[in-house]
Amino acid sequence: MKQASTGSERRYKVALPLPLRQTYDYLCKSAEPLPQGVRVRVPFGQRQLVGYVVAEASDEPPTFELKSVASVLDEQRLWPDDIWQLVRWSSDYYHHSLGDVAANSLPVLLRKGDAPEYLTETFYALTDLGRAQSINDLKGAARQQQVLAALKYQPLRRSDLTDIGVTSAVLRTLQDKGWIEVREQAPTKNQGWQKQSSVLKEQGHALNTEQAVAVSTINQQQKHSTLLLEGVTGSGKTEVYLQAMEPVLERGEQVLVLVPEIGLTPQTLQRFKERFDAPVVMLHSGMSDRERLNTWLDAKHGHAAIIIGTRSAVFTPCQKLGLIVVDEEHDLSYKQQDGFRYHARDIAIKRASLLNIPLVLGSATASLETLNNAVSKRFHWLKLGQRAGGAQMVKHELIDLKQQPIKAGVSKALQEQIQVEIERGNQVLLFLNRRGFAPALMCHECGWLAQCHRCDAYYTVHKAHHQLQCHHCGSQQRIPKQCGSCGSTHLISHGVGTEQLEHSLKEMFPGRGVLRIDRDSTRRKGQLDDYLQKATNNEYPLLVGTQMLAKGHHFPHVTLVALLDVDGALYSADFRAAERLGQLYTQVAGRAGREHKAGKVVLQTHHPEHDLIQDLLNNGYSHFALTALAERQQSELPPFSYLALFRGEATDRDSVVQAMTQIQQLMPQVEGAFLLGPMPALMERKAGRYRYQLLLHCQSRKLRFQLIEHLLPQINALPLLKKVRWSLDIDPQDFS
Ligand code: ADP
Ligand code: ZN
Ligand code: ZN
Repeated sequence: MKQASTGSERRYKVALPLPLRQTYDYLCKSAEPLPQGVRVRVPFGQRQLVGYVVAEASDEPPTFELKSVASVLDEQRLWPDDIWQLVRWSSDYYHHSLGDVAANSLPVLLRKGDAPEYLTETFYALTDLGRAQSINDLKGAARQQQVLAALKYQPLRRSDLTDIGVTSAVLRTLQDKGWIEVREQAPTKNQGWQKQSSVLKEQGHALNTEQAVAVSTINQQQKHSTLLLEGVTGSGKTEVYLQAMEPVLERGEQVLVLVPEIGLTPQTLQRFKERFDAPVVMLHSGMSDRERLNTWLDAKHGHAAIIIGTRSAVFTPCQKLGLIVVDEEHDLSYKQQDGFRYHARDIAIKRASLLNIPLVLGSATASLETLNNAVSKRFHWLKLGQRAGGAQMVKHELIDLKQQPIKAGVSKALQEQIQVEIERGNQVLLFLNRRGFAPALMCHECGWLAQCHRCDAYYTVHKAHHQLQCHHCGSQQRIPKQCGSCGSTHLISHGVGTEQLEHSLKEMFPGRGVLRIDRDSTRRKGQLDDYLQKATNNEYPLLVGTQMLAKGHHFPHVTLVALLDVDGALYSADFRAAERLGQLYTQVAGRAGREHKAGKVVLQTHHPEHDLIQDLLNNGYSHFALTALAERQQSELPPFSYLALFRGEATDRDSVVQAMTQIQQLMPQVEGAFLLGPMPALMERKAGRYRYQLLLHCQSRKLRFQLIEHLLPQINALPLLKKVRWSLDIDPQDFS
């Protein structure tokens, strides 16, 4: 790196990845002034940090001795204009430190100060011995065969192999046989992505009318506009994205596709790769830092045509971006829940407007925010009402739990229906959003419940590990033999989790396989893909899953889907609970009858007469959501008002309550805004810390912005807030 030595000395404001929203002045000698956004390494206290030049500073005499930049890391800033503007906009909108936003938008290695250059990665390649194998001899081992076939043309990354469903076990077997080996090498660079007359490798489906209208509307957009593509699961939204991308790619432009964290399935990626004769890259949290950097460079230099990624990929620089797609736009994983709390969908909308390009938001269960924009015509509203390719609509049924014998959460009526389906050779998916054996351990004598000593929460029983685990702070202990209050040894588990459900199903349906897919059963790398594959291939008649199984996956043999227990959402304190329930129900229902078999979804509930449930089942998500939207308008909740949540936490309750009260007292009397609280979080104590909140409620975004800008400097000056950890969440999605 160049030492800052020659030229004239100037003074710069530098943004650092620190919590405070301020810049720090440093001196730097250089022939030319440093451009905005270039990275510099600077001394800060005992450490060195990578910061970003924001502007030249005034030459007002400093109040303390200025330090010099240790080294200048870039000649040009790393981001193109649109991303740099996006970073600055996000810092303002979320009232978050510019240096931290900038750092968050970069791959980890660049954040740390590495050069923006391709690095070597770990690749798998055939050995001579492997090359000599006849692939046909491996008929019995389809996975091994697949790996050998894939490696015939070029070495592949671990993640490329994961993408096509290859597990570590298969790779280990082949390595043990001496047929494949691991190599460290630089990736083979794609050619720059250019205009070409045809990009299709494979023809798409002939579109139905609704799809055709959607594709042509998207392609007619000459400048920025946002389009909501609302279509039930299986209605062919992905097909619409693919066909809308075609002319964009033919113009030599790139497409950015955002997908939820869990929806990034090998199948999705495969569909994009099979359709287009164009380089497709992927960015997600499962990749190594080197892979992420190389992929980031591919996008920036225009070597990649299609960039598919999760939340943070919204900041990927692109040379010629022509279209952005946000799939499952309602998904919660687009909102970062700590540090820089941004919403990738909202940032994507801003980015498309900066670049003056169209953006498609797709969902079967649009968020109320997006729906409101469609209703008020700020967004184009495209609808797909039919399932594509002849798949039938799903039937809905309620089971009233009040009149039923229940075993491990499964009612008699449901048990009978399951029996019928599995005897026909079909698959059944049981959805229960609670992992572990049971959500609590109780004393049969005195009613004592085993409680985490660090949280206001009960321990979950995990029988397989003989443990009690707290799902909120991670603490664990062996299952006690005696009651913590009366000493009785008669302890029983209370309630049902997926682990118990799996056991009970095996008893109810002897000889039938049960596959459980949740965070506990899929901890090992590659395990999830392996299980999903097994589920898809109908290797197990009974599938048990949590939230993980709710979205994106395509199981052709599932004909019956059951939600065992969602009643908690009907009476939740969170105003978004109804919306979430509607989305969850609809997404889970979408797993049924995806192909030519008719599908049915069954909801077990103690409240079959509840308005929400009746609306959802009789009228479908769209109607349900519009009703919910009208209610939000009545009660002036988002999207009809603009929220910001101050969260505070400390090990003693008094400090945090006092600190939050002091913030409350700073709030001026303003028409159209109020600050609620301090109130305890839904879980007041978590991991040994007391948590309190203040909710700012404003009539307009502008007012919210002004108020927070007014409050923040004063809050930062409160001495008590040095002791209390606090944060600000703009457009909060979660109040827990
Ligand atoms: P979504 O993304 O809305 O869930 P997909 O695009 O994945 O829906 O489509 C569901 C299934 O229907 C896929 O197997 C897809 O190949 C098929 N499909 C989509 N559009 C058509 C069409 N116009 N004709 C026939 N099959 C289609
Ligand atoms: Zn805990
Ligand atoms: Zn007891």
